[in-house]
Amino acid sequence: PEGTFDCDLLVLGSGPGGYTAAFRGADLGLKTVLVERDASLGGVCLNVGCIPSKALLHSAKVIDEAAHMSRHGIVFGKPEIQLDKLRAWKDGVVGKLTGGIRQLAKSRKVDVVHGTGSFVGPHEMQVSHEGDVRTISFRYAVIAAGSRPVQIPGFPYDDPRLMDSTGALELADIPERLLVIGGGIIGLEMATVYEALGTKVTVVELLDRLMMGADRDMVRPFQKRMAARFENIYLESKVTAIEAEEAGLRVRFEGEKAPSEDLFDRVLLSVGRAPNGKLIGAAHAGVAVDERGFIAVDNQQRTNVPHIFAIGDIVGQPMLAHKATHEGKVAAEVAAGHKSFFDARVIPSVAYTDPEVAWVGVTEEQAKAQGLNYGKGTFPWAASGRSLALGRDEGVTKLLFDKDTGRVIGAAAVGTNAGEIIAEAGLAIEMGCDAEDIGLTVHAHPTLSETVAFAAEAFEGTITDLY
Ligand code: FAD
Repeated sequence: PEGTFDCDLLVLGSGPGGYTAAFRGADLGLKTVLVERDASLGGVCLNVGCIPSKALLHSAKVIDEAAHMSRHGIVFGKPEIQLDKLRAWKDGVVGKLTGGIRQLAKSRKVDVVHGTGSFVGPHEMQVSHEGDVRTISFRYAVIAAGSRPVQIPGFPYDDPRLMDSTGALELADIPERLLVIGGGIIGLEMATVYEALGTKVTVVELLDRLMMGADRDMVRPFQKRMAARFENIYLESKVTAIEAEEAGLRVRFEGEKAPSEDLFDRVLLSVGRAPNGKLIGAAHAGVAVDERGFIAVDNQQRTNVPHIFAIGDIVGQPMLAHKATHEGKVAAEVAAGHKSFFDARVIPSVAYTDPEVAWVGVTEEQAKAQGLNYGKGTFPWAASGRSLALGRDEGVTKLLFDKDTGRVIGAAAVGTNAGEIIAEAGLAIEMGCDAEDIGLTVHAHPTLSETVAFAAEAFEGTITDLY
């Protein structure tokens, strides 16, 4: 667009999508403004999402491993949990990263403007901060305003014992009994943390399965391990009411597998996230927002208004940080005149539970539902020397192949650090590798990533040496 504007590129929201877009834009020579309502940069991911949850999950894992070392002849005492220090450590990790983002913004001369942004025209955004209002005009804009936790109407949200993921990550205390509503990744990660800290955790899920999206056979080892640790897992059950009482939150359930009611010290509601599309004055810029708050984009991240882009959670599933960053890069490059496209064949998903569950490309259930002519190779980690050395043997690696071409079309793994080994499968799919390519690639021994090669060999029927 022609004209004189305050900046070339205005980015609304400083999450993984937004800061990536802003940095890429600045690197490509665009005068860039980054608008963020929170005092801290980094969005949900850095402040109240990916990073603090992983910091706590690591602590949870250490507690758990220490407890199990007695089987190896090493006995640790009962852990003393100093909640203030644990919280401070988690906050320290977050602070390092958010501080880093601020530094990177400064070094690139990205102008960070704090305040709540709202479009007031196709080339103008109003930013309000503590009573001050300023208007910033832009040549291009990138909407990266993210998402927020979904609420179920009628629950007592003014009671701090009813938490969303942000509240759960605050770690105000270690409740005696916690109910997690929603058996998705976020709920299960937080359930894992609290269980390790000593809370009796119950999970309630509407569907007949946990971790929707992953193949059942991949979730099974996780579910089996958790069934022994969680107080209860109620599948095909729903919470119909929560009432605040002095002694706790009284929760009413529906579903054969759950009691009609029970009392919990805290409840975590994690039933999904809603996009922020309706909260940014999009209509003033002519940007179309659907009923749920999502903004549709093309493969260059353009909205229906060609000089306005949207990226990250606000454009739809999967709501993952690595999708947001890649989209952010594309949007900034297109604004700078490059011919970039978001062209990922696959986007990996990882649940950082213990064991981790990770998948990329088509799942076996999708392959079946789509009637694909697929073959599979699986490798049980009980036959992996590395896995056994780690004292864990419940893992499985599975690769799916197109039987006609032999190419890898999907992969999944469950087990310790499964999230780290899925990257190779993603690369294999992007590059059109077949089983032989993976099998012929020399993998270091003994590693967990070796299980990917073993699964490929299992598909080819050439597996010779398991350990
Ligand atoms: P967000 O990170 O949501 O950032 C949006 C930003 O925009 C926010 O800073 C917000 O304050 C700002 N904003 C919104 N509206 C305005 C406005 N009007 N004016 C000014 N600023 C505004 N994903 C993973 O890939 N891996 C994980 O391990 C993972 N773990 C998670 C754990 C939890 C507990 C949660 C809640 C999420 C997790 N996610 C994870 C999801 C991940 O956090 C999101 O996919 C990611 O943050 C989306 O990035 P985004 O750039 O779209 O927006």
